[in-house]
Amino acid sequence: MTDSTPINMPVAWNTATRLIHHPYQPPEGFESPATAVHKGSTIFFPSMAAVRNRDWAFKTTYTYGLHGTPTSFILEERLASLEGAQHCLLVPSGLAAISTVNLALLRQGDEVLLPDNVYGPNKSLVEQGLRHYGITHACYDPLDVEDLRRKIGPRTRLVWLEAAGSVSMEFPDLPALAAVCREHGIAAALDNTWGAGLAFQPFALGRQADGQPLGVDISIHALTKYPSGGGDVLMGSIATCDERLHKAIKLCHMRLGLGVGMNDVEAILRNLPSLALRYHAQDRAARQLAGFLQQHRAVAQVLHPALPGSPGHAHWQRLCAPKGPEDQGACAGIFSFVPDASWSQDRIDAFCEALQLFRIGYSWGGPTSLVMAYDLQTERQVPASLARLQGTRLVRLCIGLEHPDDLQADLAQAFQTVGA
Ligand SMILES: *Cc1c(COP(=O)(O)O)cnc(C)c1O
Repeated sequence: MTDSTPINMPVAWNTATRLIHHPYQPPEGFESPATAVHKGSTIFFPSMAAVRNRDWAFKTTYTYGLHGTPTSFILEERLASLEGAQHCLLVPSGLAAISTVNLALLRQGDEVLLPDNVYGPNKSLVEQGLRHYGITHACYDPLDVEDLRRKIGPRTRLVWLEAAGSVSMEFPDLPALAAVCREHGIAAALDNTWGAGLAFQPFALGRQADGQPLGVDISIHALTKYPSGGGDVLMGSIATCDERLHKAIKLCHMRLGLGVGMNDVEAILRNLPSLALRYHAQDRAARQLAGFLQQHRAVAQVLHPALPGSPGHAHWQRLCAPKGPEDQGACAGIFSFVPDASWSQDRIDAFCEALQLFRIGYSWGGPTSLVMAYDLQTERQVPASLARLQGTRLVRLCIGLEHPDDLQADLAQAFQTVGA
């Protein structure tokens, strides 16, 4: 019989105990390109003093799995550096990032302002959910800074920003909107999923009149999109430079019990190094296809911030400006088009279904190109913002990693199939 009992293992322990308590420690100094997956609901404390001195806000100690492990801390810090933020928190989805910010900052009697083209579920949360808690809202025209200024009232506590806006892709004058919020001392929260930390720096949008740096106060991401890149993980992040805001959001986060799975965190850490490559490749492909659609007789309008004539193009040009002749400026690989006014909803649906490489589905930033049809008639509340579109029925295309020539051929054959 060989004795496999490791050195220092007290032989008095029973088998059940020896399966849990084991003195072996692997050698130190292990390094690989991968970030280790540290899991734990329970996290051991070295002493009761360590329990009492735990730091719930700034990642200097560990408390409980819900509040993070080395794996999630590393992703949070990488995302903070990507965005130029001081603090970052992970949540289970992009929508959870939005709802956490709303719940952390809004109280009964407060008002929240949303751009009319805000990510739909944010509007739905505010309209259908938060109103039951005595929180009101109004929608502003994202391309009209004066409209935002007019709508700010004594009860306004939070303003949401989005660039480019969801589905209709208007690009707002982000520095001007942030400056209005700053002037009124109101927190500005940006949904920065489109920019992904690459198209522009949300906390460094420019300078104020007094020379102070101008930026938003909070930036949230749906990591589900570009950072994940696989169409397989749901996660969100909330970043800020403001310690007070970070603490308010972190407290709310703890009280809501929002945790993330470390295997999912690792999946995002694994794909993060290729974020910029994927973002710029999908941008190039999307611009090729947007150009193709602009020439097509069945297309009334292409909504892509980098296209001259697209709503808010000049604002995109200024903020995400090409920095030299080789630089095209950056855009996410997502855009929409309005089909010719003669197209019925049935014909639009038939077009979506005729596509072979583009699959019908929500989300974006993954390997597979996606198509989705929308009718904005019932979703928008600001007539001026709707009036910029050549129609309310539109088709959104999210460009994956297929070869753009094959995607262009797919669009061409789908037009042919529906007789356009
Ligand atoms: C997808 C998306 C979200 C929500 O992200 P989920 O992880 O799907 O909840 C929020 N904002 C924008 C702009 C999005 O595209």
